[in-house]
Amino acid sequence: MESAARAKLAAADRVAVLTGAGVSAESGIPTFRGAGGLWEGFRPEELATPAAYARDPEKVWRWYAWRYRQVSRAEPNQAHLLLAELERMKGDGFTLVTQNVDGLHRRAGNRRLIELHGSITRARCERCGHRQPLPSADEFEPPPLCENCGERMRPDVVWFGEFLDPDLLARAERAFTTAAVALVIGTSAVVEPAASLGRIAKAAGAYLIEINPEATPLTPLADLSLRETAARGLAAVFPK
Ligand code: NAD
Ligand code: ZN
Repeated sequence: MESAARAKLAAADRVAVLTGAGVSAESGIPTFRGAGGLWEGFRPEELATPAAYARDPEKVWRWYAWRYRQVSRAEPNQAHLLLAELERMKGDGFTLVTQNVDGLHRRAGNRRLIELHGSITRARCERCGHRQPLPSADEFEPPPLCENCGERMRPDVVWFGEFLDPDLLARAERAFTTAAVALVIGTSAVVEPAASLGRIAKAAGAYLIEINPEATPLTPLADLSLRETAARGLAAVFPK
């Protein structure tokens, strides 16, 4: 089975990849649902929302500053590095869509990258919409102020209950509709659009590979579903 998947991936001119929090687990960044996902006793669903930010922006910023420090100390793992190599092999035919906000795919070298949920390494102005990178994690004191208009900025991420950028979503859907091979790695695939991108690809005739230590709603649809970590699973199907 793995050798068939490897051959498909090697031959594919168009490859679309979706990653979730699981791809960064081996970099030491906890998934929300896993152990260590809590922060000061709060669940992410209670902090990563517009209502939480309206109620207590300082608390929400403290949480993001903590995550930003955590992410800055982390390094891309073998799964990130293999995905960067896959992009070099496939060129324009490659698209990586991530739900992660940790910036590790970019640091690993991926450029054909769609960060659907934004990035905790950036802030966005609450008044004028201007985006700017955060200062280095050592120097960062929240909240950041807009270099354009001076207003307080918010994390440049998509919170629970907010809409995704429709252009980014359209590009992601196009990549999955036209892919010969689709890879879905480290996402529980219960939240949209993660739930549907793999399905879209499969319905359009793609060979669908899933990598996740646990079964997900996508598992029954996959041509190959590997119960492996991101790094081990990718290595198993990576073109030699
Ligand atoms: P999730 O926490 O719901 O699920 C993570 C998935 O990863 C699970 O299905 C789990 O079985 C799998 N997993 C755990 N360890 C793995 C490993 N070593 N290799 C491969 N898979 C592994 O995460 P989600 O559904 O991706 O994310 C929920 C939201 O939280 C996302 O939208 C994301 O923006 C945000 N989030 C981001 C980060 C990050 O940027 N690193 C971390 C946590 C949460
Ligand atoms: Zn501004």
